[in-house]
Amino acid sequence: MNIHEYIAKKIFKKSGINVPESHVAETPYQAAFLTEKMGKPVVVKAQVLTGGRGKSGGILFADTPEEAAEKTIELQNKRIKGEKVEKVLIEEKVQNKEAELYLSIILDRNAKKPLILGSLSGGMDIEEVAKNKSQEIVKTYIEPLEEFMPYQARNIALEMGVDTKNISAVGMLIWKLYNIFQDYDATVVEINPLMKTKNGLIAADAKMAVDDDAIFKHNKLSELEEIDNETFSYVKLDGTIAVLGNGAGLTLTAMDLINYYGAKPATFLDIGGGSSEESITSALKLVLKNPNVKVVFLNVLGGITKADDVATAVVKVMGQNKTKPIVIRLTGTNEEEGQKILDEAGIPYETSMELAAKKAVELEKTVS
Ligand code: GDP
Ligand code: MN
Repeated sequence: MNIHEYIAKKIFKKSGINVPESHVAETPYQAAFLTEKMGKPVVVKAQVLTGGRGKSGGILFADTPEEAAEKTIELQNKRIKGEKVEKVLIEEKVQNKEAELYLSIILDRNAKKPLILGSLSGGMDIEEVAKNKSQEIVKTYIEPLEEFMPYQARNIALEMGVDTKNISAVGMLIWKLYNIFQDYDATVVEINPLMKTKNGLIAADAKMAVDDDAIFKHNKLSELEEIDNETFSYVKLDGTIAVLGNGAGLTLTAMDLINYYGAKPATFLDIGGGSSEESITSALKLVLKNPNVKVVFLNVLGGITKADDVATAVVKVMGQNKTKPIVIRLTGTNEEEGQKILDEAGIPYETSMELAAKKAVELEKTVS
């Protein structure tokens, strides 16, 4: 199973490998918001599982929030080698790069051993290097049952031709990468390019694939997936009613009411102000994945968030999910349009938050 760049980068970061600051965006609005917040030029990167995105137009650059939104639209309107782009990564542009290196570890099925590949000629043309100047790629087989020592990693850096000053840093990076490879039962981990800057080494790209037979061991992968949307604030709790709202105060109040009527929240999920249909859809899908959730309680007071967008998302997600009941409190901007959409789909709603909370708790008791 291939893993998206943004997930691989979270794993890298957790393991102490330097990555540029980045955030996932699902809409142009989020892309602009994140770029504004970061306050610097960014790279807008299509989150697809195919490689060679750079050459297929999947990596774009933006200097302003407006440009980031435009580039996001551009990416979401095209396919990268046939793959649709849903999410983009808004990433700080690495400034003043001095060199681009290549590092990867693959599981060599014939040798039944991990193979480390390293080169000073990283970047988009590594395939060309492999074909025409393969002597520039250093290949080292690792004994899988023996401990891989930091000095072995430094030797690889030395063989690659890394200058003396950087051998220890590159060696350390190879060593960390190997540990990730082992810990996650990876079949591939790759950094290309690994950028060398005045401030050290930084993994500008991250690729990872995990052995399909080992995925069951890695619940942590799905947890990383769950927290992908940086514009949500999401806390998993131990109750049974998923509570979602468009704003922290609204969500907390809804949780209090659930408690008051005698049940416990399974989540605190603030979808954020100005939530789009897409973000509400992914928030609902996220809570529905939680097996402890018996009832979903969505509390929306439309402001910038439009009630009709909310209703459309609800119909879309709940139409596919007949197993868990949802209670919706929906008022505010475009409420008539929103209520009409729900009426047509036969999904009941309330306008009073108290009534809705009470109903959610009553429903919870009927669900086994
Ligand atoms: P890939 O083509 O799918 O491997 O995607 P990459 O993430 O490797 O991006 C392709 C190319 O874009 C890289 O080889 C870099 O040359 C360039 N690139 C990506 N991110 C940055 C960045 O932050 N700064 C700069 N200057 N170039 C970047
Ligand atoms: Mn790359």
